[in-house]
Amino acid sequence: MKKVVKFGGSSLASASQFQKVGDIIHADEDRRYVVPSAPGKRNSKDTKVTDMLYATYAYAEAGNDFTKALAQIEARYQEIIDGLGLNLSLKKEFAAITENFKKKAGSDYAASRGEYLNGIIMADYLGYEFINPAEVIFFDEEGNFMADKTNEVLGARLENVERAVIPGFFGAKEDGTIKTFSRGGSDITGSIVARAIKADIYENWTDVSGCLIADPRIIKNPKTISTITYRELRELSYMGASVLHEDAIFPVRRAGIPINIKNTNAPKDAGTWIVESTCQKPPYIITGIAGKKNFCAINIEKAMMNSEIGFGRKVLQVFEENGISFEHMPSGIDTMTIIVHQSEFEEKEQQVLAGIHKLAEPDSIEMEADLALIAVVGRGMRQAKGTAGRIFAALAHSNINIKMIDQGSSELNIIIGVKESDFETAIQEIYTIFVDTVD
Ligand code: ASP
Repeated sequence: MKKVVKFGGSSLASASQFQKVGDIIHADEDRRYVVPSAPGKRNSKDTKVTDMLYATYAYAEAGNDFTKALAQIEARYQEIIDGLGLNLSLKKEFAAITENFKKKAGSDYAASRGEYLNGIIMADYLGYEFINPAEVIFFDEEGNFMADKTNEVLGARLENVERAVIPGFFGAKEDGTIKTFSRGGSDITGSIVARAIKADIYENWTDVSGCLIADPRIIKNPKTISTITYRELRELSYMGASVLHEDAIFPVRRAGIPINIKNTNAPKDAGTWIVESTCQKPPYIITGIAGKKNFCAINIEKAMMNSEIGFGRKVLQVFEENGISFEHMPSGIDTMTIIVHQSEFEEKEQQVLAGIHKLAEPDSIEMEADLALIAVVGRGMRQAKGTAGRIFAALAHSNINIKMIDQGSSELNIIIGVKESDFETAIQEIYTIFVDTVD
């Protein structure tokens, strides 16, 4: 068996966290390819090394003396090296970083050093080979990730390497310029490595014991999801649930590799399995609930809209021309509603309204701002009867008015629109009816 194991920043924030990671890796000889993040926060008041690097680089770029700020970053690494009792020096690396900062090597280069240096320490600590991602993970001139070339080169590079450390978060353009993924991108590297070596499992180690059914800031101690499909996760992530970087799904999904989210601080916990498909019955009808605020509804009315062919196209064309993507489009006989992100819509509001009047000649347009959308997601909903009814009953119980409802054709999700002020209560009611009352 081959496992890729990615460790997040909080799992590698200090020497004692490194030791936990070492124990986890040594406990299973299949854990052969290790993808580390940069050191994260050691406590809630601490700063992530990645953030220190961005700030130090900005300071350097503005022409300031950045020696002290860089020394603080060096001290973070030295503390880990000393705590692990390693005979390793990063002096040469920091001298190169200083030179490159002076040469204005770019903020991607700066941020990437967080993972790069942590990878050097990790490889030394484990006695694994160090692989520089700049040589095996590629981006094109425009900065787009080159999946096929990377898969080929990385696969060939690792073919005869029994055990290796591949730092997360970055690669390079073909001219050698360092390029990072977006924030949290070490998850993506883990997924890319898993695909390249045809891993059996991609273990993603973090500081929670898996994905939670609902946001813990809204629900006290929500239950963990034991198994979730890629499609369900995509629905939940889109609506704001954050466990894994969204782009980390695609490489492993393509290769049919399951992801296991695990907790470095509680390695015995089963965590969450993210899989292509499963016949495992979920313990609850719903797998998860997620939601977002800041939506706006544009309600358009026109007598006999139902018989006017092309009305919908004209309305949507206006949104397209203004570069606004729409989220949902519930409709009635003579009405149609377009739901959009408020912040995206606000600056173009009057252009859009004028455009709709000109192209589609409606009788009236009304707008409602400050809406929240809640996604109730679950593969178990397809078989269950009365799920929507139970959601309505739960919300009615708390006097919450449902502004919109949309059930995806896959029957995998039901989206509900409510006033922003009802958002938290609505999620609590839905959680209670589907999870609490089942136990
Ligand atoms: N260190 C990077 C960040 O803070 C990437 C990662 O941790 O995945 O975003």
